[in-house]
Amino acid sequence: MKNYDLIIIGGGPAGLAAGLYAGRARISTLIIEKQKNGGQIVITSEIENYPGCLEDETGPSLIDRMVKQTEKFGVDHVFDTVTDMDLSGKEKILHCLHEDYSAKAVIIAAGANPVQIGCPGEIELSGKGVSYCATCDAAFFEDFEVYVVGGGDAAVEEAMYLTKFARKVTIIHRRNELRAAKSIQEKAFANPKLDFMWDTVVQEIRGDGLVESMVVKNVKTGELTEIFADEDDGTFGVFVFIGFKPTTEVFRGHVGMDEKGYILTDQDMHTDVPGVFAAGDIRQKSLRQVVTACADGAIAAVQAGKYIEEM
Ligand code: NAP
Repeated sequence: MKNYDLIIIGGGPAGLAAGLYAGRARISTLIIEKQKNGGQIVITSEIENYPGCLEDETGPSLIDRMVKQTEKFGVDHVFDTVTDMDLSGKEKILHCLHEDYSAKAVIIAAGANPVQIGCPGEIELSGKGVSYCATCDAAFFEDFEVYVVGGGDAAVEEAMYLTKFARKVTIIHRRNELRAAKSIQEKAFANPKLDFMWDTVVQEIRGDGLVESMVVKNVKTGELTEIFADEDDGTFGVFVFIGFKPTTEVFRGHVGMDEKGYILTDQDMHTDVPGVFAAGDIRQKSLRQVVTACADGAIAAVQAGKYIEEM
């Protein structure tokens, strides 16, 4: 079993910021990331609201620099998946798919994942026209039609990004008013390639190997409409951005959570377990942004440092 002073679970902005602060404090630190550093931010095409980010800053470019910063201060990184744990004692044990680890303190920064519509055909056609990542899949829809489900910041921003590729982008929103920030809405309404389908939900996505049609329902009239792919295209894209759910299943029963599964902390990121902290989108909070994730990570690392020193 490999030992560290501090283990951070999650290599998104919260985990990387925590790693930076821990590394600079000369705390022996490991960041365990499941798949790919960056969390949700690597599927974000444009970052306008992280201080210091100007035009052309993408999620991946920001994350690359954050990872390098942690490495500069001696933080170790490993790709593995936490499957079980014992956080109750002074030595925290993390069981992963490939290896087991122990640490004096743990910061949980495992983030959140996209919510699915939950309609028939969505899972089956995921990666075959249904997508949750515009940066990853937009290029596949060069000159095709694309539908974006959702009305928040993510849906509207990603819809605008998709207009750079798709022939036409239609936002399908369940109400007649967007939730997205007003500044984002202004840009969206001024975009000639962007259309809106209000008061509408997706009931079913159909296709044999690729998305071919989609049944939508007007929630006010109850009317059902089947949208077919253009005959020449044969398919279209359905990009889903309807929020996120915390990645907390594996932590259930180990730390306190609210009814939605977000981890409860105090303002210094302490969970209800001594030596266990949470940072970023995974914790109950009012604003989930890169800037708040980084702030959480910094606070959690400083508090973890104090905890380790006092042990
Ligand atoms: P969000 O703000 O929670 O918006 C989710 C949207 O999806 C809402 O419009 C919601 O409709 C709709 N929705 C939820 N469940 C649905 C369902 N089952 N069927 C159909 N529609 C559904 O989520 P988000 O846009 O992913 O953003 C998450 C957080 O990240 C927010 O705090 C956001 O500010 C932040 N974010 C910021 C930026 C940025 O500023 N650059 C970019 C991306 C994300 P209702 O409006 O009717 O509830």
